Amino acid sequence: MEETGSSSLLGINPIPVIVIGNGPSAICLSYFLSGYRPYFKESSIHPNPILQRKLEENMGISIIEKDLEFLSEGLEGRSHNPVAVLFDSLLRPHADFGVSMDSVLSWRREPNHYIPHLVLGKGPLGGAWHSIEGSMFTLSLGDWMELPDLPFRDWMRVKRRCLRNDRAMTADVAHYYQHYAKAKGLRENFVCGTVVTSVRRVSPSSSEENQEQMTVDNVAGAHTSLQSPHTSLFEVNGYRKIKDGSDKAFCIYAEKVVLATGTYDSPTWLGIDGEDLPFVYHTTSELEKILKDQERGVNFDPILIVGGGLTAADAVIGAHHSNASVIHVFRRGVSDPGLIFNQLPKVMYPEYHKVHQMMTQQSCTTSGPYDGYLSLPKHQVLCLTPNRKCIIQDLTSGERRTFNISMALILIGTKPNLTFLPNQGRSLAAKMELPVNSKHNPLDVDCYTYECAQERGLYALGPLVGDNFVRFLQGGALAVASALFKERHDTQSPTHRQTLIS
Ligand SMILES: Cc1cc2nc3c(=O)[nH]c(=O)nc-3n(C[C@H](O)[C@H](O)[C@H](O)COP(=O)(O)OP(=O)(O)OC[C@H]3O[C@@H](n4cnc5c(N)ncnc54)[C@H](O)[C@@H]3O)c2cc1C
Repeated sequence: MEETGSSSLLGINPIPVIVIGNGPSAICLSYFLSGYRPYFKESSIHPNPILQRKLEENMGISIIEKDLEFLSEGLEGRSHNPVAVLFDSLLRPHADFGVSMDSVLSWRREPNHYIPHLVLGKGPLGGAWHSIEGSMFTLSLGDWMELPDLPFRDWMRVKRRCLRNDRAMTADVAHYYQHYAKAKGLRENFVCGTVVTSVRRVSPSSSEENQEQMTVDNVAGAHTSLQSPHTSLFEVNGYRKIKDGSDKAFCIYAEKVVLATGTYDSPTWLGIDGEDLPFVYHTTSELEKILKDQERGVNFDPILIVGGGLTAADAVIGAHHSNASVIHVFRRGVSDPGLIFNQLPKVMYPEYHKVHQMMTQQSCTTSGPYDGYLSLPKHQVLCLTPNRKCIIQDLTSGERRTFNISMALILIGTKPNLTFLPNQGRSLAAKMELPVNSKHNPLDVDCYTYECAQERGLYALGPLVGDNFVRFLQGGALAVASALFKERHDTQSPTHRQTLIS
């Protein structure tokens, strides 16, 4: 979105759709709402004959307008959400069989189907991909990181970048998303550096009252409403970082709100004493600096790394490459089938296979080929003390040991941060008594529209609803777009420009 010299972010009419979060889920939804529509490509053959027959019906009608429940019926795949499986199978037919087939979709931009929307996101466009250490490689195939109608591999070729074992560097994925938004003309819908602090439903009369108190900086053109003027709206409050470093508050109204905030903003804490000490970190962002300090001989005590997942493994790799000593603590046993390393094929993930080897071969001992590395499976950290000591307990024998450490990295997962919603979003979850969690307690949405079961007009996408991979979250964007298009009024003006931001 273009910036003006004005100083407020204010709305006079409600915006039809506000998307919170600016990662791949939001980018994909913005693509649909911008009028890009998928059609079944003439002469293409889908490997599923039943789906093929369904797709051949009414070929001239976009998939967005078709009955997604009918199309996705009977399909199976690696997502619980049927539309996620459907759309993935249209973009990457038979991908799970290791087959590389062309998409059966063709894309048209139809500006008359544009739905005005604003995408608000804390950081740069691309979401979590900008917070992930850029030199890491994706777990998924690089091709599965791509968004509709812009092949990742072609973009990599133009950029003279390479995949490794068919996997992409995370920094490349982040750049690709920025390029995607630019190439598809979506950027004007995005307002980055914007933090949403509350979303609440208001009646039309209270929003009118509030709006009268606002200064309107610029309004150019009316827009098409998705709903009747008497329906209640969402009031979205937040602030935006402006150039002088200060925060500027805003309040805008929306007919529909889409939650696409991902699940990586709030690291999970162990909940032990000393976890808030200054040498304890819950992300890998400080690791590089600390490793440099260690190289300069600031503190040679080992780094404590807690966690049995891939982020902890990446930290182990980084520390080991810098010759730093590591104590690696995790709760599972090394051969536990639930341990992620036991689920990854060795050939595709040699670096994680190497970490698993370290965890196994140097379990409870530092003698072995991996100098300075100690793995403590089936152990837990009991506490950390201000003089940089940690007490670790063997979960099998109950025995406790104390270690001197230089720093602690607690990398045991992340959880969604929905503090901007009433009751932290719990009342929207499948199990309302528990916190929202992408694996065990996602938001409860209608699986064909992604509208929250408990809140009409509120939608959710991506890991918030259990679509943890980029490959599958795109079906959610299709479902939301389809639901909104179906609800849309016929009268529309493509010239909507309602909100301006300093
Ligand atoms: C280390 C790591 C490796 C991964 N590897 C893979 C992989 O190989 N393959 C794969 O498919 N997926 C992978 N993922 C998962 C992938 O990153 C997510 O599936 C995807 O990014 C989710 O997209 P999203 O748009 O829903 O959310 P996100 O990408 O998380 O973006 C949401 C954005 O919303 C912002 N936000 C949150 N709250 C607010 C607020 N109140 N106001 C404004 N903005 C807000 C967040 O800061 C964030 O930037 C990986 C994730 C991590 C952490």
